[in-house]
This record gives sequence, structure tokens and C-alpha cells, in this order.
Amino acid sequence: MLAAPSRAWNVFKQIFADHWEPFQRAHPRYQTAYYDGLVAKMLECGTPEKMGYIAYRCLQCGQGKHLVAMSCKSSLCLRCAKVTVDNWVSQVSTMLHEGVIYRHIILTVPAMFRTTFYHNAAVVLSALMRCGVHCLDDFYSEVRGKALRGGYIVVTHSHGRNGQDHPHLHLLATSGGDDAQGACWEHLAYLPYALLRRKWQWHLLTMLRQTLKTDAVNRLVDACFTRYPDGLVTHVQKGHVPAQYQSVARYVAKYVVSPPIVVRRIDRYDGHRVTYHYRSHRTERMEHDTVEVNTFIGRMVQHTMPKGFKRIRYYGVQATRTFAKVKALIREAVAKVEGVIKGAVQIIARLTYRQRYEQSTGRDPLRCPHCQSTMDVWRIWHPTYGVIYDEGEVIKRGTYTSTAPRAGP
Ligand SMILES: [Zn+2]
Ligand SMILES: [Zn+2]
Repeated sequence: MLAAPSRAWNVFKQIFADHWEPFQRAHPRYQTAYYDGLVAKMLECGTPEKMGYIAYRCLQCGQGKHLVAMSCKSSLCLRCAKVTVDNWVSQVSTMLHEGVIYRHIILTVPAMFRTTFYHNAAVVLSALMRCGVHCLDDFYSEVRGKALRGGYIVVTHSHGRNGQDHPHLHLLATSGGDDAQGACWEHLAYLPYALLRRKWQWHLLTMLRQTLKTDAVNRLVDACFTRYPDGLVTHVQKGHVPAQYQSVARYVAKYVVSPPIVVRRIDRYDGHRVTYHYRSHRTERMEHDTVEVNTFIGRMVQHTMPKGFKRIRYYGVQATRTFAKVKALIREAVAKVEGVIKGAVQIIARLTYRQRYEQSTGRDPLRCPHCQSTMDVWRIWHPTYGVIYDEGEVIKRGTYTSTAPRAGP
């Protein structure tokens, strides 16, 4: 795997090794096998004899060797974060349709409801995603004056850049929708933001009232309508096509799957307090923060979702098999308005370990340093399944026709 700078990585692990148990005692909601698992895996990450490995060897000269520890796949692990982000991007990219115009829309929840979300995450987060979809369908329908159904890829995001709890939705939404029969596609080139803000407020607050049904929530809902008469904060990415971005999925990934901080941004840890820095989206500047170690751990674990919770969901036209049929309609409708359809979406293939390594170090990890030939898989070992593949055994048995898998972990 891509090794993060080892000093910072060791500091990050040290923080969890020192304080995970006291943190759990102070926050019993994290005293579960699930969270213990995330921490345990992360602490063992990068240790081949714990995580499993793929060993490569040069079969030409017999000298070159390269060992790759498998990724721990813990959502807490900053060391594996880049792999997680790359995989997320390729997964989402395959769900986007080339030539279709998508907008990146953010729907926020006001600060007064943060505690409500924190304590009811399991029920409220699911409802929040559906609520965002209903809101946009309703919004598109009102703008066009007839019932429309768009296509949506919805991601919940529970932290802001400083790692503090800040639930909101990111939607990759078609700009418009089809009528119920799928007979006609209505492309909306202009979205009235003021209407969206009020629609979002109405949908969110109605959902909270109906889902939680408590007096406390009802009071907050009333207060929210009074305090924000013009609706809630929403962001719509401006312009037709995010041409400046390599891919709309990669752009959204920056906001939604990247961990709250990057490991190399931990500046100091003295056993009690952690100092780190991050680029603030609000001020566009580098911000520094020093917090108690329990606060730091809290910020890191908050962005992991409850077990089994699906962070990305697909709705409406986006989720149906009929998309192929509707797609021709969309192309036609969009072409009329926009003139030419540029490649709105670029599909990105999954990067292999070898490509990632080469991208970040400029060096091919599988080229033998002694004779420059390409090294082959020699052995694959997994902590649960033991030796999965052993080229040496194959050669000894005399049945040698290399079938070694070449992809990275
Ligand atoms: Zn890891
Ligand atoms: Zn060699």
C-alpha cells in the first residue's frame, strides 16, 4: 500500500493505542465490536504478518523481491484513505452516464439540529437521504409545472472540514427529470435557488417532525421556521458542466469520502493534546487547531457511519433499468438547450496498486532493481485463509505454467 510518512502515521496510531479505551468509557455509544474492529484493523495496518501480503519475486534473476501488505479497509485508517477514495470514485463513475449533465447539490442541516442527528443517527440519516430526493423531485416539478422525476446519487456526509459533526447531503443530480411515463425529458437549464432553499426547509423539517415525533423536536422545528424565513442553506454548483474537473465524481469525493484530516497534517501530540492543520473550505485558508485527545478521536470516529449504513444510494431515473431508454431522450433535450454535449462525465477505471504506487513515487514497484524485468507474484498469504498462492510449490510440482494473478491488493 501507499505508505504515509511514517512518523505522522505512527503518531496517529499512538493516539489510538493510548486513548481508545478511555475514549470509549467516556462515550459508551462507541463500545461496540464494530468500532473495536475498525480500530484494531487500523492499528495493524501496514504489518504484513498481521494483514496478509502479496510477495513478488523476480523469476528472471531470482534476486528482486517486493512485499505488499494488504489494505486494512478500515474507514478509520488514514493510511488506506487514498485507496478508499480511488475505489469510491471508480464505483460512482460507473453509475454516471456519459453525455448527461449532472449538478452537484448540497443540502445542509442547520446547527440547531446537530444534537438531534447525533443522537438519532440510525433512523434519521436514512430518512434524510430519501427526504433530499423528494425535495428535488418536488422542486423540479414545481419549476417545470408538471410532475418530474430526476436521477440522483445521494451521499450523506456527517462532518465538516474541521472534523466537527455537520450532517448534510451531497447529491449528484440530473438537471431535470422525466415525466412519469418516461415519454419526455425536461432539462432545466436554470434553477431558482430561492425556491430550492424554501423547499428544502419544508421537506427537512416535515421529515424530522414525522420521524421523531417528540415535543422537543416540534419546538426546534417551529424555531427553525421562525429563525430562517428564507429557507435553509443549499449550494448548487454553478455552470453547465464541471469541465474544470477531471471528473464530477472525483470532485465530489473530495468532500464526501476524504477523511476529516490527512495524516501528514498532524503537527504535534504530547500525550494529552493534538495539534493539526487543515484547509478550511469556508475561509480558503490553512487553519490550525489544538484539541484534547478525546476530542480528536471523536472527530475521527464521527465520520464513520453506523454499521451497515449505506453511505451512497441511487434513486429515481438513476436507479432504474429504464435509464438506457430515457438516456436518448435526455441527450436530445440537453442538446437542444446546450448546443453541443461535451463529455459531461468521464469514466475512470479502477487503479491497480502498481499504478497508484507509480503515480505517487514515479517508480514502478514491480520492476526488478537488479535486472529490470517485471517481477511476478510469488506468494499470497491471508491471515484467515493462510497461503492462497505459492509459485514455488507450483514450480516444484513441475506443472509450471504461471497463472499468477497480477493485480495488486
Ligand atoms: Zn489501513
Ligand atoms: Zn531480476
